Amino acid sequence: MKSESVPATSTLPDSRGLNFFQADPGFDGLMQLYLPPDLHAHLRPHFVKLGALAGAELDGLALAADRNPPQLHSRTRSGEDRQWIEKHAAYRRLEEVAFSDYGLAAMSHRGGVLGWPQPLPPLAKYALSYLYVQAEFGVCCPLSMTDALARTLSRFGDASLVARYLPGLTSQDMDTLTQGAMFMTEQGAGSDVGATATRAVHGEEGWRLYGDKWFCSNADAGVALVLARPDGAAQGTQGLSLFLLPRLLPDGSPNCYRILRLKDKLGTRAMPSGEIRLEGALAYLVGDPQRGFVQMADMINLSRLSNGMRAAGLMRRALTEALFWARNRVAFGKRLIEMPLMQRQLLKLMLPTEAARSVMLYTASQLAAADGGDDAARRRVRLLTPLLKFRACRDARRVTGDAMEVRGGCGYIEEWSDARLLRDAHLGSIWEGTSNIVALDALRAIRKEQALDALLEGLPVDEHLTRAARFADEADEAHARQAATSLYYASAAAILSREGERLPRRRRLAELVRQHWLEPRDPLQNTPPPHLDLLDE
Ligand SMILES: Cc1cc2nc3c(=O)[nH]c(=O)nc-3n(C[C@H](O)[C@H](O)[C@H](O)COP(=O)(O)OP(=O)(O)OC[C@H]3O[C@@H](n4cnc5c(N)ncnc54)[C@H](O)[C@@H]3O)c2cc1C
Repeated sequence: MKSESVPATSTLPDSRGLNFFQADPGFDGLMQLYLPPDLHAHLRPHFVKLGALAGAELDGLALAADRNPPQLHSRTRSGEDRQWIEKHAAYRRLEEVAFSDYGLAAMSHRGGVLGWPQPLPPLAKYALSYLYVQAEFGVCCPLSMTDALARTLSRFGDASLVARYLPGLTSQDMDTLTQGAMFMTEQGAGSDVGATATRAVHGEEGWRLYGDKWFCSNADAGVALVLARPDGAAQGTQGLSLFLLPRLLPDGSPNCYRILRLKDKLGTRAMPSGEIRLEGALAYLVGDPQRGFVQMADMINLSRLSNGMRAAGLMRRALTEALFWARNRVAFGKRLIEMPLMQRQLLKLMLPTEAARSVMLYTASQLAAADGGDDAARRRVRLLTPLLKFRACRDARRVTGDAMEVRGGCGYIEEWSDARLLRDAHLGSIWEGTSNIVALDALRAIRKEQALDALLEGLPVDEHLTRAARFADEADEAHARQAATSLYYASAAAILSREGERLPRRRRLAELVRQHWLEPRDPLQNTPPPHLDLLDE
């Protein structure tokens, strides 16, 4: 008997192919607000194109790269000792789009990227990276480290070192590109960097490094910044010097270090993080030998800001997916978005997402002013960076998890983006400083750099910001996270309010941020119904 074939049909909405820039109409309004008109007009077509790529090709590549993690090889088939990391073609294409097509690591350091004659301002870099990271998070780590290393080297390295390495770090040609990394963490020295045991020994040929680095992301990078203690130097962070470690020696042979193994990670599975043993590796001193840690902090802070941007981007991706699903999935004869309880949940995803985006964009605008010599802006960035890194990374864990649930059972399945986003989001809070460490750093910025005064001078101050600032100013160590949380949301509300002068929807988001995180609430009181039109954007 002939069997009847049942045509394969699906009632599930599929977001693949969505343009992440156009699906997020509020973003362009913000770009018009924060970017000068000529730069906005120049970049807009790039936003549209990258938004389309991220929602289609890059998303597919990210899925494939995640499923095919890198492999470490230590010998050639003919028995020659040579190490290399094999990366999947999908990962290499993701690198190419980021480093080469869009020049995301180069654009802050030289003109000519994306047809703009000068170096592009931090806002442009973060806005483009914010779109890119909605598809792929892992590559953003090498990208950010290459960008941050170029900056730290340019600021502190001597002219010959800069001349030798900066062109490779800022290249858009994949054959001449030198990627950057940061090898700092040791088994005995993670948060407690002052316990670093790696030795730096000075001899006739220069500096040689000996020791084990326990977490080295982008393990096969062309150059890495490394903290080590010269023999005889003081204990603690004061005795640490900063070194540039090339993968290859000037004659092209491998430097004296080995990747012992790659980590088997929860997230960022496509990007190789390894353990490295330095066995007398040649390295070049960067800047003042007494200020190694202070100089490294420059790179760490820029990486933390980038980390905050990535958390904001992950939340936006999660929200875009949740909104898409809720608008198109039908249950009980209605679209999910028509159901009051779902509307509240969507709004709860939207608030931290919008707060993070505003803090990120404002901080990026202040970074441009700081680089132009504005000291108050520098102090603002100094404080906003740990606030964003701390709170946005924590919020991203929740938002990606809750957005997963909006998709129901499919959300839990690896073919969709939700599981990958959730796994990646959990890393943000751990690397480049855990939540506790970064919250404590925000208090340090307040105590040591008068950063609170600068923050308040720059924002429209209301009673919530005044209270949060006072609380943070007086907070002891045990309350560092509470202080950082309230100062972050009070700052976010102030930034949203100011954006609201031109974009009225953002003033209403500011009100909700205050209600939700800064005002006392009775858990048994009915709250007013959510502003549903906020979900339209
Ligand atoms: C996937 C991945 C990639 C990484 N890539 C890199 C890299 O490329 N380069 C690099 O240098 N490092 C890298 N790291 C390391 C990362 O930055 C460290 O793991 C992190 O800084 C924490 O250090 P630790 O693991 O030693 O934890 P610990 O320092 O032992 O911390 C353990 C816990 O104690 C808490 N704690 C520590 N001190 C205090 C305190 N004073 N008060 C309150 N709580 C405290 C921490 O918050 C944390 O919760 C990577 C980590 C991961 C997971």
